[in-house]
Amino acid sequence: MTKSISINRQSRKMSKVDKNHPLEVKIPNNIMIEVTNLCNLKCQMCYNQRMKRKKGFMPFSLFKKIVDQAVDLSIENMGLYTTGESFLHPEIFKFIKYAKQTGIKYVYITTNGQALDDEKIKKIFASGLDSIKFSIDAGNKKQYESLKIGASWDKLVITVKSLRKMRDEMNSPLRIFASFIIMADNFKDLLKYKNTFGNFIDETDFILVKNQGSQVKVEGLYPKEIISQIKNLTLPKEKWQPCHMLWNRFIITSEGYLTICCIDFENKLIYGDVNKESLGASWNNKKMKRFREIHTRGQFAKLPLCFNCDVIKRNNEIDINKILQNYEYKKRF
Ligand code: SF4
Ligand code: SF4
Repeated sequence: MTKSISINRQSRKMSKVDKNHPLEVKIPNNIMIEVTNLCNLKCQMCYNQRMKRKKGFMPFSLFKKIVDQAVDLSIENMGLYTTGESFLHPEIFKFIKYAKQTGIKYVYITTNGQALDDEKIKKIFASGLDSIKFSIDAGNKKQYESLKIGASWDKLVITVKSLRKMRDEMNSPLRIFASFIIMADNFKDLLKYKNTFGNFIDETDFILVKNQGSQVKVEGLYPKEIISQIKNLTLPKEKWQPCHMLWNRFIITSEGYLTICCIDFENKLIYGDVNKESLGASWNNKKMKRFREIHTRGQFAKLPLCFNCDVIKRNNEIDINKILQNYEYKKRF
């Protein structure tokens, strides 16, 4: 099997933005769409269940409008998720099919997997989805179910195995990825995770827990073993960096608003509305350029969500995957 890269890595590659951070930039090659902000779980490290914003599904008419414009702008990559569980959307397969058939090259979804069954898995293959990523974040049933309240470990294992089996039987090009947010509680179970999923997942993205713009308290969640090996996890204020998301992707909420952030649960960072203005016209509009200016000038205090977010402060030179190689379980991944 050819070595593939997960969309997060792909996204990191795409995130190499012009170091000068110009206020006006060319249309990005990636778009993320919140097809729904509803979720069927209450994960400990997620703000979703505390969200005050009205929850709902993006209508197909709005989705179609976005896809048509994205194709006209030659955008190749489309993620169909941000703050919710996309497979709860009753028309999700119609959405994927439309995006693929209209000309989006790479359509990807991150999911908790709990809404999937064999019937839906068959529909995934028929839809033309290019990759699916399961948020797993645990190595055993007890840990998984206490971290992801409402989820079933047994269901997840069955779903991942079933998806992989069908992919192999059909010789489908669908890529199967996983993400594992590393925290103090799950860190020691990485080997168990590997033993359960290693043969079924193409690649796992390991991420050190982040605070979602301080919407989630992460103090006490860091694994000591990892933190002790990291110098300068958080950069001093004068070295904080503009967030790459303002330069490398469109992010659209289920209502059709353009936001600078994929964790903007309360729509606090809006710069446009696809219902009123085209994607192309919005990308360098006055509000967006002002957001970029605030980031490039380091005036983060003007945007409390960004000011309190790990993303601008975290030392990007730290490679968590490299650190994990010191441990036996990672060597065997
Ligand atoms: S992390 Fe994902 S699955 Fe968990 S509550 Fe948040 S959106 Fe739902
Ligand atoms: S820095 Fe701002 S835009 Fe970037 S992830 Fe954090 S809250 Fe979102």
